[in-house]
Amino acid sequence: MSVRLYEVLSRGELTTRENTRRVHVGGVAIGGGAPIPIQSMTRTKTEDVGATVKQILKLKQVGCDIVRLAVPNERAAKALKEIKLCVDVPIVADIHFSAKLALMAIEAGADKVRLNPGNIREKAKLRDVVKAALERSIPIRVGVNAGSLNPELLHKYGGPTPQAMVECAALEIAQLERLGFYDIVVSLKSSDVIETALAYITFAQRFQYPLHVGITEAGVGDEGIAVSAVGIGTILSLGIGDTVRVSLAGEPEREVELARMILRSLKLRDFGVRVIACPMCGRHEIDVKELAEKVREMTQHIKAPLNIAVMGCHVNGPGEAKMADIGIAPLREKVILFMRGKPIKTIPKERALEELVSLSERLAEEAYGRI
Ligand code: SF4
Repeated sequence: MSVRLYEVLSRGELTTRENTRRVHVGGVAIGGGAPIPIQSMTRTKTEDVGATVKQILKLKQVGCDIVRLAVPNERAAKALKEIKLCVDVPIVADIHFSAKLALMAIEAGADKVRLNPGNIREKAKLRDVVKAALERSIPIRVGVNAGSLNPELLHKYGGPTPQAMVECAALEIAQLERLGFYDIVVSLKSSDVIETALAYITFAQRFQYPLHVGITEAGVGDEGIAVSAVGIGTILSLGIGDTVRVSLAGEPEREVELARMILRSLKLRDFGVRVIACPMCGRHEIDVKELAEKVREMTQHIKAPLNIAVMGCHVNGPGEAKMADIGIAPLREKVILFMRGKPIKTIPKERALEELVSLSERLAEEAYGRI
């Protein structure tokens, strides 16, 4: 762990995710120990109802629990009403400066609003937005971004430091609390992994509000994936973070897939089968990557949380994959099937896939009462 993370962690206790305030976004709970929901954001123009609905449905299909839409103008706010009629995923309206758009979005049925009270100049209008959110029982997410802190905070803290980000969140929260509003979710985003983690830790030492975790502008391609996984993974592994959004350039479905992988690798949520494959070395007797991909494809229907291993050789394979529920390793022209490191039978290579799938189904049924 980085020395700075360790230092900040030792300054005070964290409110971990079991003890944060619980809020509800449509039928999905955030905080208070609820399963961590995955969020993503549409790339379409919100006013293009057909394209937006199509993308929301695709996101839902890959496991997105909450979808955020940009509401930059009245056309988008009006479209929200139609979109809500076509989808059953909770929808978050992303508003920047306009109380009018926030009110329209709430009226249109948004299940949550992402809005910074500090950006609404006329306080009477902020009061109207809060009143509408209270009437509909919808939460508000306060989103602090290191790139857009106000000049006073930057001056006071000598830059967009974690303390400056938390102070900014505290000021936004205070505006809502003054109006009697507490169903607040907070995000503290920066493109720097360590600074982001420090901000989340510092916040969780002071507040009990649930945290929306993400790394902003994580980058493109493999770098974006690595930065997101390390950043979000670091924060979640400390026991904080109540909902996640991976931000990647490109198709939003990819964000959801990566979020699922992060949550599954930390054992925070189950998403069916996880295929473990050895990296292959000079001992390999099969093409592990090809077989592992086939196994993944053929076991997609299994929703029980199973670990299936595909290993490259029988010498080390079963032992290296001891933690897997079930696995496969080649033995010359044949294949060994093993369970938790123990060989159970040897079968011809061409039957390997079929046997592995049926054994996994049986195991899922026996262990979890479902496939
Ligand atoms: Fe190498 Fe065998 Fe280990 Fe795969 S399982 S990395 S082939 S030793």
